[in-house]
Amino acid sequence: MQGSPRLELRSRDVGGHQPRTVAGVDAPRGLDEVRALVRQAMAAGLRLYPISTGRNWGMGSAMPVTDDNLVVDLSGMNRVRSLDLDDGFAVIEPGVTQRQLAAVLRDTPWMLNVTASCADTSVVGNALDRGDGCIRSRVHDVAGIEAVLADGSVVTTGGLDPAGRYHGRVAGPDLTPAFIQHNLGIVTAMAVSLVPRPQTIGLVHGRMGRDQVGAAVGAITGFLRRGNPADGLLRVRELSLTPAGGDWMLPAGVDPGLFTVLGPLMGSDATVELAEELLRKALIEVEGAEALRVVDAAEVSPDDPLYPRALMAQGIPTCRGVHNALGVTSCDLIDEGEMGFLALLPLLPMHARRTEHLLAALRTAVDAHSTALMVEWNFVGKHLANGVIQIFFERGAPGAPYRAHQLRNDGNCLLRGHGCAIYRSDIDHAAADVWSETSTASLGMLHRLKTALDPDGLLSPGRYGA
Ligand SMILES: Cc1cc2nc3c(=O)[nH]c(=O)nc-3n(C[C@H](O)[C@H](O)[C@H](O)COP(=O)(O)OP(=O)(O)OC[C@H]3O[C@@H](n4cnc5c(N)ncnc54)[C@H](O)[C@@H]3O)c2cc1C
Repeated sequence: MQGSPRLELRSRDVGGHQPRTVAGVDAPRGLDEVRALVRQAMAAGLRLYPISTGRNWGMGSAMPVTDDNLVVDLSGMNRVRSLDLDDGFAVIEPGVTQRQLAAVLRDTPWMLNVTASCADTSVVGNALDRGDGCIRSRVHDVAGIEAVLADGSVVTTGGLDPAGRYHGRVAGPDLTPAFIQHNLGIVTAMAVSLVPRPQTIGLVHGRMGRDQVGAAVGAITGFLRRGNPADGLLRVRELSLTPAGGDWMLPAGVDPGLFTVLGPLMGSDATVELAEELLRKALIEVEGAEALRVVDAAEVSPDDPLYPRALMAQGIPTCRGVHNALGVTSCDLIDEGEMGFLALLPLLPMHARRTEHLLAALRTAVDAHSTALMVEWNFVGKHLANGVIQIFFERGAPGAPYRAHQLRNDGNCLLRGHGCAIYRSDIDHAAADVWSETSTASLGMLHRLKTALDPDGLLSPGRYGA
């Protein structure tokens, strides 16, 4: 078992979580090395915590949930095992980054559902934590997985075959989702559904006064529920809440008086045109929405502030958004930078009045802890939005990290009090977030499943409750 200086360096996390002690870092290069590591760890009674690229910023970065784990850094396992350009599937290892997969797909009829995070984040790691891409939630990209279990055996799910080919979802129960936000195995490969490259990508962009946010959420909900003919994930974002006093911080260029409506409309020329018309109609009552632009993503020039989003909408990952948000020139500096960042990820109602109530409640927490936050609604479906609440703080300022963590704790309680469950968690709250929303009988079932496959609790202890 060898050390990896890169990861040791990154154990300083941008979220300022209580540091965990680690038993070491190992970086296996292939499936057989993972299996050997698991067997050695079993014999030595060592706990393993797999990460793919460890850039889970705001949720704990590369840090395990509990102390004394051996971190298994899978970033060196970075083969694209197979690419099916007829049916649109890629089978990839955990170290395959957005940049790498997008490059392989360039000039093919398929593209990647990229996230707004750094180009060198893992497609597998993000999907296993239920991340959101620009086109849809990443969970919808996961077609099957290969995993090493705690006894060293290898399983595949969802139609992925042991030779690394994907045949579509085969008959019988599909255990793929059991490996997402759980700790049943070390995922060593994933079959990823690719997105057909559309004829047109219209990028929606509009900024409106913050008092219109409830109306905008309600209007977009109406548009989606009545039937958006185009693909793509619309967002309401950059709605900031700033405290009445104190030294709070927000990313450069964010105007607390405004919020943004953003996202792609993808399809044929005719579909995108119709979608734009329907969206404009839906937003007719929202003040300021008349200035909304829908631009051809392929035509946005590099000096336009929309350029990073235009790239992402076309399946081209970029680090520019992360650099702008966290004030760094390289993603390698994020865990060391001056700006601290925490994420709180609740399901949010797609409803105007409830939106206003929630924001009023969050404002009390923002004032109480003199720390600013930004709220984002990712409209991943027709029922509930994936919320992303970003909390920014100055890491070196006395008391600022503490206040930011208190704001996230209080925000979590407030949101749950308003019926908004947490859908993605962090290393401090993963257990509580699962326990608080799961019945005793269901927790018992999860426990039985975990102990059947991993009786000694070898893998990712504490991750999502188990
Ligand atoms: C400005 C900014 C913008 C962001 N935008 C987005 C966004 O648009 N969408 C989004 O989803 N996130 C976003 N993020 C959050 C985060 O950076 C990404 O989610 C990132 O992809 C997660 O890191 P990773 O890919 O390195 O995954 P990892 O950190 O490697 O994995 C995440 C977790 O999954 C588990 N895991 C990973 N690999 C394995 C494995 N092989 N087997 C078993 N368990 C495993 C581990 O518990 C790990 O901690 C953003 C962050 C910032 C700061």
